[in-house]
Amino acid sequence: MKIPFLDLSRIPDNVKESLEIKFREILHLGIFSGGKEVELFEKEIAAKLSIPHFTACSNGTDALEIALRVSGIGPGDYVAVPALTWVSTAEVVKLVGAEPVFVDTDHEGLMDLELLEKLDVSNLKAVIPVHLYGQMVDMKKLVDWAKKWGILIIEDNAQAFGSSQDGKAAGTWGDIGCFSFYPTKNLGALGEAGGIYAKKGSVHSAVQQMINHGQLERDVHLSVGKNSRIDSIQAGILRVFLQYFEVWQTTRKHLAGIYLDQLSGIEGLTLPQNCLEKTHNLHLFTIRFTERDNLREFLKEKGIGTAIHYPNILPEMLPYQNDSSFPIARSISQTTLSLPLNPFLTEEEVICICKEVKSF
Ligand SMILES: *Cc1c(COP(=O)(O)O)cnc(C)c1O
Repeated sequence: MKIPFLDLSRIPDNVKESLEIKFREILHLGIFSGGKEVELFEKEIAAKLSIPHFTACSNGTDALEIALRVSGIGPGDYVAVPALTWVSTAEVVKLVGAEPVFVDTDHEGLMDLELLEKLDVSNLKAVIPVHLYGQMVDMKKLVDWAKKWGILIIEDNAQAFGSSQDGKAAGTWGDIGCFSFYPTKNLGALGEAGGIYAKKGSVHSAVQQMINHGQLERDVHLSVGKNSRIDSIQAGILRVFLQYFEVWQTTRKHLAGIYLDQLSGIEGLTLPQNCLEKTHNLHLFTIRFTERDNLREFLKEKGIGTAIHYPNILPEMLPYQNDSSFPIARSISQTTLSLPLNPFLTEEEVICICKEVKSF
């Protein structure tokens, strides 16, 4: 028996065929940057998220960096970020010369909004909420607070494509929403890709300039920008995957239901809360268990792949060192384990994983 954490070579044959057809189409058309695939991809994402416009770009990290740059955030500014997240969230703040202010998380791994509200807001320019594991931060509450103090919200929506709160999609609540279409995300390319939703028209235009050398039309450079364009091939590939997105979400929810059924009532094992709700896209199925490392080793010996998101909190890493303590985020990093959850798993495999967890 071998159950990998995620094996993208398991993409079903019919989908692989659609991808091959799309690749061939683009190859014969001969347009590899910009063009109709990019335009259509942006339109389709905007329609799916019920927003007026969307800008596809090179990857999720660039999306975050660009969001900070077009917001004029730089040296002397502070940006609130959660202590537990993928490195990009804090990395981009440093990259533009600003300082991250780390906020501990709640027990679900999301930025603790009560703690955020206690921060000194004098030099705080923005907050980057992260919808970690695919579950949404309470955006209603965050938006109310940010409005009160005039603080920008830049949503790190890399993990929560498809989640929504009160019918409003993740990534569309803040002033700017940043998306990643990295291959392992729920909507993933066959390479690097990302996207940006800037609510204000003027910011949207600044984003479009920034990803393309400061130009909106060829050879007219209006600002200093960079090259953060998406590949046409990735846009085309993502359009194919988008057609399977909802079906695959249903599969994720179904398999998560089996996990919840089978693993409930085990002493010391905490299951993810509300993960069948719309506010969670089940990007990851994370359990918490005190003997996490032993369980992980046991499962590995049985041929079951798992992952840890994330084994270290950012303020304990060299470039982000910070002496404050972040007890909740730290305890999550020491006890969290991500079990396999993706549309390419079978019910039998999930049941088998549960059996081994129970036997441990
Ligand atoms: C994946 C991810 C990113 C970065 O996206 P890339 O496309 O890999 O650059 C940023 N933040 C979070 C929380 C992520 O999970």
